[in-house]
Amino acid sequence: MAEVILKNICKSYSNGFNAVKDVNIDIQDKEFVVLVGPSGCGKSTTLRMIAGLEEISSGELYIGDKVVNEVDPKDRDIAMVFQNYALYPHLSVYDNMAFALKLRKLPKDEIDKKVKEAAKILDLEPLLDRKPKALSGGQRQRVALGRAIVRNPKVFLMDEPLSNLDAKLRTAMRTEITKLHKSLGTTFIYVTHDQVEAMTMADRIVVMKDGIVQQIATPQDVYDMPNNMFVAGFIGAPQMNFIEATLVEENGEIHAKNEVMNIALNKGECSALISKGYVGKEVVLGIRPEDIHIEDVFVENSLDSTFEATVELGELMGAEIYAYLKSGKSNITARFDGRYKMNIGDKLKLAMDKHRIHVFDKETQEAIR
Ligand code: ATP
Repeated sequence: MAEVILKNICKSYSNGFNAVKDVNIDIQDKEFVVLVGPSGCGKSTTLRMIAGLEEISSGELYIGDKVVNEVDPKDRDIAMVFQNYALYPHLSVYDNMAFALKLRKLPKDEIDKKVKEAAKILDLEPLLDRKPKALSGGQRQRVALGRAIVRNPKVFLMDEPLSNLDAKLRTAMRTEITKLHKSLGTTFIYVTHDQVEAMTMADRIVVMKDGIVQQIATPQDVYDMPNNMFVAGFIGAPQMNFIEATLVEENGEIHAKNEVMNIALNKGECSALISKGYVGKEVVLGIRPEDIHIEDVFVENSLDSTFEATVELGELMGAEIYAYLKSGKSNITARFDGRYKMNIGDKLKLAMDKHRIHVFDKETQEAIR
């Protein structure tokens, strides 16, 4: 069993900087967990503490059922793959993969078997005699993965392993790593600042900001039910729109109003808003660009949540077009079908799918549910 549990983990660096603050994560055996967040949020520090490369200031780290705070990295039964691959330039692919096993003084035929098995999984068999400088970036990254696989660790730790690859290769390697996880049946903990990697690879995502965990949930739940405006804005591109409005009661319904909008909110949403005393207060509405519709394709949920906006720019992406719009004081982004024709200055009648509107507290920025 390779459950990894972080209990009240904190990290203060020697200069007094608190990089990780009271982090609690319960990673299941065989789970693929992605730590994601902007630069400096503490995700690498967290991973390095799990690896044993960074001392834990307080809290407890369990791997399996043992507290491992004081256990040496080499005895933690983990393998780490880094962004810069960290291959030995003077050794062949074979010897790079065999290195750790030779250090452990495994019998030669056992080393050979493990290296060849890993080379087969990673499609490296024809490259075993090459030196790293004669490999492409993607091949080097596969060797780095191979070096981790041969050690048969309980837990794989990966720190931005794809960030040195070009966009196309990154997408291909993303799929490779997901498949690898399925075939090895091992716990993976993966750090990235790229929300697309997090969304596509993770069983569960841990979103971090300023050393604090903001949300731990499946990709779908992080996208559909973000805990706060930070998570809502960080996950999803183009990012969620935020629109300031005041909540008022009209004919037994709750409406969100500002100088140009009067949006009837979904009834299911209203009871929390009423019971928590938000009627009469300013809030922030959140709506994703794909949940804004043009008049001729209004969905039923949007008939009483219409508003007008002026086109400031259209960005054709191929299958879809991103429309950058202005409505009153709010800048709004919408995603329409790429065949929709619009011109700068056009006034559009739009509507929000009200089942997809999020309401946030303006002060705390927390979602109101
Ligand atoms: P990135 O994506 O840029 O690597 P990150 O989320 O992985 O960012 P960390 O590397 O964990 O962030 O760093 C978290 C914070 O701790 C940063 O503000 C960083 O400047 C600080 N930090 C990292 N290492 C040290 C150190 N040795 N001494 C002091 N502060 C440090």
